[in-house]
Amino acid sequence: MNEYQRGEEAFLKAYGRYDTVIEKGEGVYLYDTNGHQYLDFYSGIGVNSFGYGYKPYVENLKKQLETLTHVSNYFYTPVSVEAAEAVKKATQLEGVFFCNSGAEATEGALKLARKYYYMKNKTADSEIISFHHSFHGRTTGSVKLTGNPHYQEAFGPLISGVRYATLNDIESVKALINDKTAAIIVEPVQGEGGVYPCEQSFLKELRQLCDQHDICLILDEVQCGMGRTGTIMTYFQYDILPDIVCLAKGIGAGVPVGAFVANKKYAEAMQPGDHGSTYGGNPFVCAAVKTVFEIINNENMLEHVRDISQYLICQLDQVVEEFDIVESRRGLGLMQGLVLNQDAKPIVKRLLEDGVIVITAGVNVIRMLPPFIIEKQHVDEYIGKLKNILKDFK
Ligand SMILES: *Cc1c(COP(=O)(O)O)cnc(C)c1O
Repeated sequence: MNEYQRGEEAFLKAYGRYDTVIEKGEGVYLYDTNGHQYLDFYSGIGVNSFGYGYKPYVENLKKQLETLTHVSNYFYTPVSVEAAEAVKKATQLEGVFFCNSGAEATEGALKLARKYYYMKNKTADSEIISFHHSFHGRTTGSVKLTGNPHYQEAFGPLISGVRYATLNDIESVKALINDKTAAIIVEPVQGEGGVYPCEQSFLKELRQLCDQHDICLILDEVQCGMGRTGTIMTYFQYDILPDIVCLAKGIGAGVPVGAFVANKKYAEAMQPGDHGSTYGGNPFVCAAVKTVFEIINNENMLEHVRDISQYLICQLDQVVEEFDIVESRRGLGLMQGLVLNQDAKPIVKRLLEDGVIVITAGVNVIRMLPPFIIEKQHVDEYIGKLKNILKDFK
């Protein structure tokens, strides 16, 4: 039996996995057990911002492994304090809670918004507004926030009091707001659901609505945050601040860590005993978080993301022009989607066979989340292979 077959024997079948077995990575390329090379245009679902084997990242993590990996949250460590300070500075918010994943970040944000509501209203009878096509994770809380009935159906009863509005339709939000509304959670760019960016006016109006009604605005930047769209947080492109932001994926760039970060008002609602995590933000993952910010700040990474994404966008727009089956392009920075008039899976599969890894979003969107370190030659390699494959589809 090869590794794929052994994996199929050993794992629960929670994922539809490819029969390619990935062995190692270097730069922007992955290699399978047969030695085939793959251009990475998905970064392990928006995680590996610096590709594979990025020197400062690997060196700092190695050093931390030899110093201390875990100590529990009874104690601060120098590296965890530095990581939290870096997150605080980058988000322009007040207080950080480290967890282990994106789902935990949205769960934690939800709990904190409810805690504030409870302290203010002396009742826990509150509601949350989320959006159709959203994705916030797979736990029984975060999957309820996820506006996709398909992910929820079999797993009820889930948490109650969640209602769904339509992205970029402010009236649909207003219609759901009432005295019980504790929070609105939204991705500035919906990832999983189809790469839908929020319109400028929409996010600004959400911020105003939340101010007006004392509702917690939670921005889920698990996928679009940490520089992926060209600014450290996507919300800086909208000129607003959230009450709470959720981070994961790129904040660890390869180690499991997430965070939710609150402004002063919500930070004050968190009291000892309200929330916790054994691993959450241990010294090992905090060394990664700290290093991620150092790399982004010291190596002009965001400037590069803005430049190279402009080039990618130009090439993608040409693909839209050239091929009838490609209807449009959506996205911000290095978070891009090509919208097809058909199922995207067969094309994504052909790309894999041709040595490029991308993923789908929704049903008919090819989603691209390349590492920040891609250069023009990698964009050209991708576009060349993509065009070659699209010729075979009508
Ligand atoms: C991936 C993702 C999550 C869930 O993160 P996990 O680490 O898989 O739990 C939550 N929100 C958004 C926007 C995501 O893209």
